[in-house]
Parts: sequence; structure tokens; C-alpha cells
Amino acid sequence: MQTHAAIVTEIQELAPAVLQLTVAFTDRDFEFEPGQWVNFQFPEGVSRAYTIASAPQRPDAVQLCVRVGAGRGGEALKKLIPGATVAIDGPFGDFVLPQQDGRPVAFLAGDTGIAPVRSIVLHMLATKDKRPISVLYEPDQRHILYAGDFDPLARDGSIVHVSGKIETLIARNRRALESSLKMAAGFDGFLARVQSALRANGIDPSGAIVESFGPEP
Ligand SMILES: Cc1cc2nc3c(=O)[nH]c(=O)nc-3n(C[C@H](O)[C@H](O)[C@H](O)COP(=O)(O)OP(=O)(O)OC[C@H]3O[C@@H](n4cnc5c(N)ncnc54)[C@H](O)[C@@H]3O)c2cc1C
Repeated sequence: MQTHAAIVTEIQELAPAVLQLTVAFTDRDFEFEPGQWVNFQFPEGVSRAYTIASAPQRPDAVQLCVRVGAGRGGEALKKLIPGATVAIDGPFGDFVLPQQDGRPVAFLAGDTGIAPVRSIVLHMLATKDKRPISVLYEPDQRHILYAGDFDPLARDGSIVHVSGKIETLIARNRRALESSLKMAAGFDGFLARVQSALRANGIDPSGAIVESFGPEP
């Protein structure tokens, strides 16, 4: 593990209480696999885990997609301004696509859990990965994060991207899910519902690759 100095170059509000942070590294040796997360150290010393939402094709900067919570991380986010110097530890995590698994890939994401999915999907398309891609997405309050990326890809048939209540999406896509590699990301409550819904549809959730963001902010 290595600590990297970085500068927050842009802060965009993607939806109410959801920010995209663009972070540029001052050194050039940060590398990550799509789906991994970093430990983000705010200028005041608080640190929180955030997942990289961008693909590794642009290695000098990363995008993070973050729900502003009620805790100390949320408070630090509200004070963060473009130009702030931060420290990034990592990358960490094994929410990564197994290269040797040839099955279609089905992502199940809730809210900002779309961050690692965006990174992996953009990377799969950039590297011309042949596996069919489905994204089943449960947004918070109908705010489809990264619709600007996913909608054109769904329209031209590069991926399937559907949104709604996750129980409904799992029931509707039961057959495709049975034969797919499943990767699920989001806060704990969402992941528990994914597990129950998979079971309720006769699908064993134990083989799924899962990234937990912890309790709901
Ligand atoms: C591996 C990993 C990756 C992650 N990636 C992402 C990501 O990409 N995007 C993302 O949005 N999040 C992500 N998270 C979650 C993130 O790290 C934080 O846990 C989350 O943002 C909450 O941080 P916080 O400081 O606001 O709350 P914390 O201080 O960590 O408190 C946890 C929870 O306690 C409650 N709480 C705490 N203080 C108060 C208070 N004063 N009043 C009321 N309630 C309170 C809130 O529900 C809060 O969310 C990830 C977590 C992990 C473990």
C-alpha cells in the first residue's frame, strides 16, 4: 500500500447529496484495477473509503462518486473545495472482474454502488471485452447516476441497463441472472435485499462477488 498526494480538481453535484470528486495525482505511479477503492484522507485528517468510478484508461486522475452522509466524512465533504490537497491510500479491494470467467456479467448496484460498476463497464468496453453486460440499478429517488454514460450504451445495444426496485429487476431478469457472473455493490441494506431477492427467485447468491459500502449514510 502506498500513500499518494493528490489535488481535488473538480466537485460536481450529480444528484441531491451525491458528489463526484475528480482527484488528480501529483505523482504518476497510481495504478488500480477497475472496481477497487481508495482511502481518501480529507485535509482535516478524517479518512473514508470511496470507490473509483472512472476507468483506468485515464491514470493521472480518478473520479469518486460519493453520497454525503451524516457522519464525519459527510461533514468533511461539505467543507471540501476544488484545489484542496488530499492524500489517497490504496488501491484496495477485490471487487474485480475475474478474467478467466467467460459468463455474461450482471451487475446489481444500489445508489452510489454504481461507482465500481461504472469503472468496470467502461473498462470492459474500452478493452473490447466480449462478455454481454447487464446493469440492474436501483437509484435513490429516481436519480439515475451516470445516465449520461449508460443511456447511450444501452440505446446502441452495447449493454443492458435497467433501473427500478431491485426485487422487481431481479424477478424480471431471473433467467439471465441464473447463467451470469453476478457482481453486487452498495450499502448493506441494499445488499441484504439483493441476497433475499436472489434466493426468492431460486438463485444461489453465494457465488456473487460483493462490495459492501457499510451502513446507509
Ligand atoms: C470499501 C468501501 C467502499 C466505499 N465506497 C463508497 C463510494 O464509492 N461511495 C459512497 O457514497 N460511499 C462509499 N463507502 C461508504 C463511505 O466510506 C462512508 O462510510 C459513508 O460515506 C458514510 O460516511 P460518514 O462519515 O458520513 O458516516 P460515518 O461517520 O462513517 O458514520 C456511519 C453512519 O452512522 C450514522 N451517523 C454518523 N454520525 C451521525 C450523525 N451525527 N447524525 C446522524 N447519523 C450519523 C450515519 O448513518 C452514517 O452514515 C464505501 C465504504 C466502504 C467500506
